[in-house]
Amino acid sequence: MSGRPSAWRLLTQNGVVAFGLALLGVMVLIVLLAPVLPLLDPNVTDVAHRLKPPLYPGHWLGTDQVGRDILSRLIWGTRLSLVVGLTAALVAAAIGSAIGLSSAFYGGLADTLLMRGIDMLMAFPYLLLALAIVAALGPGLFNAMMAIIVVNIPFFARGVRGGTLSVVNADFMAAARLSGLSDWQIIATELFPNVLPGIVIGVSTTVGWMILETAGLSFLGLGAQPPQADLGGMLGEGRNLIQVAPHVATIPGIVILLLAVGINLVGDGLRDVLDPKLKSGGLARTHARTAAASSEARRAGLQPAGDAARQPLAVRGLHTQFTVGRNVYKAVGGVSFTVKPGEAVGLVGESGSGKTVTALSIAGLVATPPGKITRGEILHHGEDLVDVPMQRLQAVRGGTIAYVFQDPLTTLNPLIPVGEQVAETIRRHQNLPRAEAWRKAVALLESVRLPDAANRARSYPHEFSGGQRQRIGIAMALANNPEVIVADEPTTALDVTTQAQVLALLNDLRRERNAALVFISHDVGVIAELCDTVHVMYGGKVVESGPVAAVLQTPAHPYTQRLLACVPVLGNPERKIEPIPGLPPATNALPEGCAFAPRCHLAEARCSAAEIELAPVSADHFARCVRVAA
Ligand code: SF4
Repeated sequence: MSGRPSAWRLLTQNGVVAFGLALLGVMVLIVLLAPVLPLLDPNVTDVAHRLKPPLYPGHWLGTDQVGRDILSRLIWGTRLSLVVGLTAALVAAAIGSAIGLSSAFYGGLADTLLMRGIDMLMAFPYLLLALAIVAALGPGLFNAMMAIIVVNIPFFARGVRGGTLSVVNADFMAAARLSGLSDWQIIATELFPNVLPGIVIGVSTTVGWMILETAGLSFLGLGAQPPQADLGGMLGEGRNLIQVAPHVATIPGIVILLLAVGINLVGDGLRDVLDPKLKSGGLARTHARTAAASSEARRAGLQPAGDAARQPLAVRGLHTQFTVGRNVYKAVGGVSFTVKPGEAVGLVGESGSGKTVTALSIAGLVATPPGKITRGEILHHGEDLVDVPMQRLQAVRGGTIAYVFQDPLTTLNPLIPVGEQVAETIRRHQNLPRAEAWRKAVALLESVRLPDAANRARSYPHEFSGGQRQRIGIAMALANNPEVIVADEPTTALDVTTQAQVLALLNDLRRERNAALVFISHDVGVIAELCDTVHVMYGGKVVESGPVAAVLQTPAHPYTQRLLACVPVLGNPERKIEPIPGLPPATNALPEGCAFAPRCHLAEARCSAAEIELAPVSADHFARCVRVAA
């Protein structure tokens, strides 16, 4: 069992969608039960009781101009309108999606022919085309539905073609071709699931407006023909009576409105449920900062900060977790470290060890929902950033604490020249005129050794290499002379020569500006090159920490020892590389005691008996292992 919330739960936990579901559910239930409900015949006239108001005995919603029961006609008419709207939307979606998918997938002549055909349909005013089709086919509900289908096909074809084009050249498509799948298999198994959420939201919005369009044609006398009841026809019949008997027109009008509202709300919810990215985080959108437990709950059991309160950054007993359905992922489980001015502190460990979540927690950037800081504090000169007012946090983020992200291509805005992005960061924190901010931005780009910075500042991110984009990211981080730079694997995506240049640059800048650096990496060699202190992380905890030389030369924790054994040494081909067996633990099912025990060749019974504390190896070197504690 995955523990992920079910589609139904995701839908119902969003209040607005739940309201739409309830509204639509009640209406659909009533129209489905129409044959067994004690309703009067919707077509039987009774002129003696014409235009009776709502609550008239025997006629709850009154009667129309020929004495027919409005309630009965409303229920049967809603049933007909729903069937017509849903059928029209599904048929238009099927035809339009097939055209859009084929057009984008095959391209070339097929694309030209199909899209010009769609353009021809779109060249006519929408409603005029529907009227012309009904005029040609003759009035009647079926012909009106045909007309509505035809005029809506371009909507789906264009939308699905656009969605398909955005993924048709993606790497997973190339992988599908390499795996030997046929065109139809690729369309069915790779492309279609990617565009399906768009189609569903399209159908859910068009059902509502197709009901309105069919109602419009019936209103004009071109759709349902008397005595057949549909919502548009009822509205049309009542329009001349709006002065004398307003209920005849307003009641079907209200039902049309409620139907459209219910369908659109449910459509929004379905779109979110079908999108795996939204599914994992619930329907709610990410907040501007990470949620946190109350100050009292977070600080329970923490010792006084002492000297740490004076440092630019002190992470104390940090616990950050993610709740997805019934699963709680304890990504960070009690991390503590302090960074002094000019000091470089490294966090190292395998993927999933909690390094990045620790870094994101410092900046309050862990996505909420589903992330939450449940315990601990993050002190910046003694001020706990976890619960400072939002305005203060905004001043700190990008101001005194800067962040360099792993992938500079996705963190730079592709539509704004890089110089403007750096200048904008400066202006956000310093009250400088635009020209002055621009000059500073160019100087910063020069300081990160971007060639021809004055001219290249006007270029867009895609015009730079990966290494240059990372330098621009570093320039943005330095824009406001930060006291702390958090760099989250900033060299992972770079080749070795560019990596060396970026590392040297970060080191120089840190020393020149006396900034504190928190450097995250899975590469022990990089940490050895750059950092003064290292914290080795495993299963969301620091398992060993101390000066880089001490930890890397005399590792005390078996995990650190195995991690170092995985690092190749240049010029020593005899040295055997020994991978660590097994996989890091899932943070929603961490083992009792030492999380490394299932992979540790030295594990013994007491390792899994209870929580193991960090124990001193020497004065400034600590490890979380029973062998050290002993
Ligand atoms: S506590 Fe036990 S299992 Fe964990 S690293 Fe030490 S020896 Fe290995």
